[in-house]
Amino acid sequence: MKAKFTAIELLLFLCAYTSASVVGILLLKYYGAWAGLIGFVGGFALVPTLVYGIFALTGLLWSGRPPLPLCGTSKCKYSDFKTIPTGDGNIIYVCRCGLRYKKVGCHVIEITTSGRTAPYMVWKPCRGWCREKTIHQASQH
Ligand SMILES: [Zn+2]
Repeated sequence: MKAKFTAIELLLFLCAYTSASVVGILLLKYYGAWAGLIGFVGGFALVPTLVYGIFALTGLLWSGRPPLPLCGTSKCKYSDFKTIPTGDGNIIYVCRCGLRYKKVGCHVIEITTSGRTAPYMVWKPCRGWCREKTIHQASQH
């Protein structure tokens, strides 16, 4: 039989339980049984909320949310991309139209059919996915 929880989940559960106990006991002490019960539930939810919040925030700031923009024909969203690992530890994202992209930090780079790379989109924390400036200028001339 497989273990139902991974070590991280177990750790998270223990943190949540500790947080729940502390908040619950504090509220129970000062405000009574009902406050204690609410505090316990609230305290229990606090840890996963915080962890999820941190993950969401780091995605928002550094790698984009959704993690990839729409593809070049605007038909494929993140869930339509297939990931193909390359030999050197990188990942290539292929959309349903067959367009290929790779991700470098918050930049998404298009891999053309000839194997060359061209900047595609960049993630800006307050603005979302934006076209890289260079590709605009290049296509206009
Ligand atoms: Zn596509």
